[in-house]
Amino acid sequence: MNLAVWIERHGRLRPDAPALAEGERVHATWGGFAARTAAIATGLRDDFGLVPGDRVAIVMRNRPEYIEALFGIWHAGLVAVPVNARLHRDEIAYIFEHSASAVAVTDDDHADDVEALVGVVASLRAAVVAPGERWNDLTASSPTPLVDRRPEDAAWLFYTSGTTGRPKGATLTNRNLMMMSLSYFADIDAVTPHDSILHAAPISHGSGLYGLPHIAKGAVSVVPDSGGVDGAEIASLIQRWPGMSFFAAPTMVKRLAGDPAIGAADLTNLKTIVYGGAPMYLADLEDALAVFGPRLAQIYGQGETPMTITALSKADHADSDHPRWADRVQSVGSPRTDVEVRVVDEADNELPAGEIGEIVVRGDVVMAGYWNNDDASAEALRGGWLHTGDVGSFDADGFLTLRDRSKDLIISGGMNIYPREVEEALLRHPAVKAVSVVGRPDPEWGEAVFAFVVPADGVEPPTVDDLDRTCIDHIARFKRPKAYRFVESLPTNNYGKVLKRELRERLIAEP
Ligand code: AMP
Repeated sequence: MNLAVWIERHGRLRPDAPALAEGERVHATWGGFAARTAAIATGLRDDFGLVPGDRVAIVMRNRPEYIEALFGIWHAGLVAVPVNARLHRDEIAYIFEHSASAVAVTDDDHADDVEALVGVVASLRAAVVAPGERWNDLTASSPTPLVDRRPEDAAWLFYTSGTTGRPKGATLTNRNLMMMSLSYFADIDAVTPHDSILHAAPISHGSGLYGLPHIAKGAVSVVPDSGGVDGAEIASLIQRWPGMSFFAAPTMVKRLAGDPAIGAADLTNLKTIVYGGAPMYLADLEDALAVFGPRLAQIYGQGETPMTITALSKADHADSDHPRWADRVQSVGSPRTDVEVRVVDEADNELPAGEIGEIVVRGDVVMAGYWNNDDASAEALRGGWLHTGDVGSFDADGFLTLRDRSKDLIISGGMNIYPREVEEALLRHPAVKAVSVVGRPDPEWGEAVFAFVVPADGVEPPTVDDLDRTCIDHIARFKRPKAYRFVESLPTNNYGKVLKRELRERLIAEP
């Protein structure tokens, strides 16, 4: 099974319909996309002497050529290594080296960094800048037939976003990506050729992954001209491309919900916003529902089981009369159709509803293992279950609530404190814009709860007493922060996840 079969198929079925768009303009029809994919495959194979299974990295901002490169790579039976384009050059070099990438496709913005690595990273034979002369040569090659791939062959090496340690490459096979796509239809949405998918978030991550079910069904992939999230631009693209869905981190959803251009826009053409990747706080979700209506679906997943562990459907979000609605929308939903999900103790025994433990997952969407890292693979996949490192509990109805990453848990005076709960409480204060809670080493308590607080704009900043009072009103006293620090912003990684490790390090570095 070669996933590029989708391109070939739609190239025949609907050759004149738009396949790829840049802003409001059509970049390629399905006929054109199919021809370019088959040509790029020939070019990669012949110009660089690549054979099926070789790795080709992509370091690009969002642009239509990204998707052409991805499917050209697959058409030739090669393995794609989409790299977060905002990484530092040394981090990019590490991923090239670790994956032994032979070629890197890049763009003008990243060409200097990537070209400098040719010859420095031993495996890297060439960099191709797209658009550019060499890229044009590739796309002008004669087409090659689709190369046969087995379901268990690697297709995408997904390097983890690395909020801790060195990134690891989750080996995603053709079967994994196929299952992820089918499961989107089962649990999130049906997709038709009249729909569109907007890539407002990086294609190297969740947005690119969820682009696949849309490509499978012949919908148009739209890349905003800005390459990112801009309320006014998204509002106008929604008018241009009907049936629009997009993937967004919770911080992006929050930003868009507060954007006057979105508030004033006609959202009839907006089908679904899939959010996930980090916690969505209740207050933010309520604001987003007020703006977007019943168009929000949440997913919980990780690179190792791409975008697929649980989902909270649009119907779950809309079911506000349900007596347990508030609890449900603070959960990450229920298990996806194609996986089994359990909560287990340290000895991997399944725990009953209500008990907190590590979340483990089994199914055909779970990665084959970590690329070139047998020890980490054996550890993560022990007993045939993916150990996510996330901690949570099921309720009696089967909704999973995520507590935190196990390493973010704070143990203070022998009590487990889940930062998320403290964050939820503090965010209820109207003068708090954002907050992150971490543990600080403490001689008396082991760890003490410490809150970094970003005050809201244009209002009187909250006092420590106010914040304490808000906590006491909503959570047990012992969970209340022992100290607060007011900051202008929180450090986040390129996907918008708060870097708790950095906050902890800041605290440790202080006298
Ligand atoms: P990544 O592999 O970079 O996508 O990161 C995956 C991690 O993000 C998961 O293991 C969770 O810790 C976190 N995560 C993913 N989805 C959600 C969600 N819906 N709510 C809260 N955290 C999430």
